[in-house]
Amino acid sequence: MNQQRGVTVWFTGLSGAGKTTIANAVDRELKIAAASVELLDGDELRQTLCRGLGFSAIDRIENMRRIGFVAHLLTKNGVIVLVSTISPYREIRQELRRKIGDFIEVYVNAPVAVCEWRDVKGLYEQARAGLIENFTGIDAAYEVPLQPDVECQTDRETIAQSTIKVLTKLEKLGYI
Ligand code: ADP
Repeated sequence: MNQQRGVTVWFTGLSGAGKTTIANAVDRELKIAAASVELLDGDELRQTLCRGLGFSAIDRIENMRRIGFVAHLLTKNGVIVLVSTISPYREIRQELRRKIGDFIEVYVNAPVAVCEWRDVKGLYEQARAGLIENFTGIDAAYEVPLQPDVECQTDRETIAQSTIKVLTKLEKLGYI
């Protein structure tokens, strides 16, 4: 059997940076190409796999590890896994890269001011009003990737440009 090589494409960045938007666009393109692909959306997984976890450092680490665990299983089975979750801690992202092996870190980068201006989910407004605590970029840390495999600067690129960057990397590394 000519099986596809699996890989985890891990989109990290602030809320509203564009992780889900780009992951969805990459997903669409890969499905058109008949690739075996799975989307793991952090917001959705907080209702199921990660239900009950909050936003303390310990819970965020657990959240990343659970998602990483599932991504690893799928990756081993030849799936292209698109993970979109803030995943603020560099060390845990590195840990998952070591474990999974086939791992592409995509830093979805937009300044917090831009994310806040977009406020896609209205969360920044709530965080500023003190209704949400431990909000990444406001009163919780985000550790910027030092050597991401791909960086999408979504305040300066179109969604299509960001999407192509990810697809090009997948192609260059031989996954598609
Ligand atoms: P996240 O998943 O990181 O929380 P979302 O994808 O939900 O962020 O929201 C990002 C917002 O930014 C969307 O409204 C999207 O249309 C907009 N946007 C503007 N330019 C880009 C770009 N180049 N890439 C991704 N999103 C972009």
